[in-house]
Amino acid sequence: MASGIAGKVVVVTGAASGIGRAAVRLFADEGASVVAVDVDADALARSITDAPPGVLPVAADVSREDDVDEYMTRAVRRFGRIDGHFLNAGIFGSFAELPDVTLEEFRHVFDVNVGGQFLGMRAAFRQFALQEGAGAIVLTASIASLAGSSDLLAYHASKHATVGLVRAGSVYGGPLGIRVNAVAPGIVPTRLFIADADARGGANDMESRAATTPLRRAGAPREIATVAAFLLADDSSYVTGQVLSADGGASAVNTVRP
Ligand code: NAD
Repeated sequence: MASGIAGKVVVVTGAASGIGRAAVRLFADEGASVVAVDVDADALARSITDAPPGVLPVAADVSREDDVDEYMTRAVRRFGRIDGHFLNAGIFGSFAELPDVTLEEFRHVFDVNVGGQFLGMRAAFRQFALQEGAGAIVLTASIASLAGSSDLLAYHASKHATVGLVRAGSVYGGPLGIRVNAVAPGIVPTRLFIADADARGGANDMESRAATTPLRRAGAPREIATVAAFLLADDSSYVTGQVLSADGGASAVNTVRP
């Protein structure tokens, strides 16, 4: 699979697990230099033990302004520039029906999912300006960017906000040659999704939901990472402001069809 990101410097958040981990591996295998960012320092260290050379791990919390500035500084100190930023870190938050969602919980999910993507996008734009423009940004959206659910309100609202960041960022970035897009995964069995499946009835539930998608299966983290690679690469040079679903066709199904 040609990704077209060979030789680029790409910063990946949420890099210790799931989709982010697969992205670090794919991008490095394709010849990119990768800055792997995650709040879980131990998991991050474990996740890159067998990664190819050229991967710089940085423990950082994407919801903290100082941490984001620090990982960007370290990326530039090590590699001299950045060419792409995959803003992938995200959390579900607690499962609760709407009346039981606390303001604290709501804010926490937004701080990580939306605040983290805002801070990372801003840091990338600032760095691109120092490099005289150019570069690509990819955010991880979700099928939850397109619809709702009764027990993960903050998560769904935050993933809708991701789309707003993509649209606004692409309008600002276009004249500067900076592209901003999102990949929207469906069901991918990662740590995050397994927590969701456990809350709703276990692995059987996950399999039965995956079986309702047109492709009749869950996706693999690497199948999301390949889409992120395409959106970061020059192969997608005329694509910006878009949300590209990688969900086995789940978002194509009309769920109210009689
Ligand atoms: P995951 O739990 O396997 O990985 C998420 C990673 O993000 C973890 O390593 C975690 O430590 C890290 N992280 C969490 N909070 C952080 C913070 N404040 N700062 C830095 N890192 C932090 O889950 P995943 O499924 O790989 O999730 C990646 C992205 O994909 C998320 O944005 C998620 O919303 C999105 N997504 C996942 C699915 C799915 O089915 N798995 C579907 C749609 C969207």
